[in-house]
Amino acid sequence: MDIDVEEAVKLLLNGEVKIHELDDLLGDSNLATEARRKFIEKLVKAKFDNISFYSLDFNKLVGRNIENPIGVVQVPLGIAGPLKIHGEYAKGDFYIPLCTTEGALVASVNRGCRAITLSGEARPLILRDYMTRAPLFKTPSIFHARKLVDWVKANFNRIVETAESTTRHGKLLDFSPYMVGNYVFLRFKFSTGDAMGMNMVTIAVDEVRKLIEREVPYANCLSLSGNLCVDKKPSALNLIEGRGKTIVCEAIVKRRVVKDVLKTSPEKIVELNWGKNYVGSALAGSLGFNAHFANIIAAIFLATGQDLAQVVESSMGFTVAEVLENGDLYISVTLPSLEVGTVGGGTRLPAQSEALSIIGCKGGSTPPGLKVKKFAEVVASTVLAGELSLLAALASHRLANAHKRFGRGIKS
Ligand code: NAP
Repeated sequence: MDIDVEEAVKLLLNGEVKIHELDDLLGDSNLATEARRKFIEKLVKAKFDNISFYSLDFNKLVGRNIENPIGVVQVPLGIAGPLKIHGEYAKGDFYIPLCTTEGALVASVNRGCRAITLSGEARPLILRDYMTRAPLFKTPSIFHARKLVDWVKANFNRIVETAESTTRHGKLLDFSPYMVGNYVFLRFKFSTGDAMGMNMVTIAVDEVRKLIEREVPYANCLSLSGNLCVDKKPSALNLIEGRGKTIVCEAIVKRRVVKDVLKTSPEKIVELNWGKNYVGSALAGSLGFNAHFANIIAAIFLATGQDLAQVVESSMGFTVAEVLENGDLYISVTLPSLEVGTVGGGTRLPAQSEALSIIGCKGGSTPPGLKVKKFAEVVASTVLAGELSLLAALASHRLANAHKRFGRGIKS
């Protein structure tokens, strides 16, 4: 059928075609986007002057990043920094891109960057690095379940070969078996180069599933994901065992800087950190022993094309603070499950890719993995800056005023 956008809108309104059929029907995803948008405009009797305003080429995105597009929602992009970082991969002064609609967030992170940089530097360290997928198998009995685990252990080399036949960068490192009655969960751990790796390991583990079902007739795979991966859900497992990058970052903030820049004292920050981030979080049954990792993680994830739903587990973690003998403040953040990539997923979108280039983290690296580790170190260092600044704002009772000023435009 040879049709134009207006005819496509009519067909949609008459129910003669479905919204997902337009890309093929028009042979162009940009035209299909326009037709879908006009259809929705007519349906809700509105004009989308902003959703229709963008530079994206949907022919490059449909089939990889989005289905049924109608346009774009813009989110403001701010910048915080410079933040001095002395990591194993990230070294130097960094400006960090942050996407948010929460007034005060960028200003607050910026203040944390200043305090850390005036005092010295943020020192990040990656402790573990793997992406996981945990398929769920059902077997006839607990004895069969144990036999399945034994089979996987005995045939691990074959499993590695099968998994790695699907990818150049994915390397199967290890697995952890978990048995509950006659159910078996196999938590496979991969290194994934510069990619976050979720598609990579899912495709690899699907081949492993086929091998197991072929070779172990009593093993019935109920799902490629048994919720023990654990993807996009808060969990003690990720908190303890890690997923993605397990990363820590510390800084010493000079007493004078705490007073002049952060308007409080190391003692007040330490007292608040204990009361709020440990006593308060324990009382709430929280997995986040921190003030607001999620704010910084979400803003960087959005700016750089990370998987936004993984803000959930990437934002779990701990803030530790103490006063040193010389009166300076020691502060660290620990993120056990930071899931990030510099290739793949949304990182390939043009604006997100430009945002990654601000921190020198666009694309892949040789050997693979260097770029994403640098990125993870920048993320953890920025989380530290944000955490420091919010704790200071709370300790000095300046939080509400900051939000009046930056969130509501009220000068007080
Ligand atoms: P991907 O874009 O699916 O795969 C990464 C691709 O980049 C692979 O084709 C890989 O090739 C290639 N590559 C090139 N240079 C690389 C390098 N230096 N390091 C690593 N890979 C390199 O991305 P992904 O990270 O695997 O998955 C992320 C996507 O998965 C996101 O869109 C996310 O939203 C989505 N996701 C999927 C699931 C799921 O269940 N499938 C769950 C959560 C999220 P080789 O494979 O040949 O190495």
